[in-house]
Amino acid sequence: MHEMSIALSIAENVKEVLLEHGDVTPISIRIRIGCLAGIVPDVLRFSFGFAATDILGCSPGLEIEEVLVSGRCLDCGEHFTFDTFPVVCPSCGKARIDHTGGRDLELVSLEVEDNNEGDRCQTKDPESQ
Ligand SMILES: [Zn+2]
Repeated sequence: MHEMSIALSIAENVKEVLLEHGDVTPISIRIRIGCLAGIVPDVLRFSFGFAATDILGCSPGLEIEEVLVSGRCLDCGEHFTFDTFPVVCPSCGKARIDHTGGRDLELVSLEVEDNNEGDRCQTKDPESQ
């Protein structure tokens, strides 16, 4: 399942970012994906719920921003953006296209809550024993 492997890599990414921020809990995550990445946003959001619970121990919201893919025609050099396959050059109609962007997945922002400023829920109880 395509979306699940992407969901897992997002969660791993977020985990790395979180490690740099100390004791925080992710609240919401915003990603950007090219529409040619072949992702179904709803499926990705669903998969991410599982991936995040597994890897992060919580399930933050996932906002998905879809971007158009940009390309350049190898025949006439025309630059353009598109959001469907198959792709043909709008200028000459040829299909030899060099994709210049929009296929990648990018972590745009990560909203977190500082656990030290909010409610302390898992602190050790010094009075035990
Ligand atoms: Zn062309």
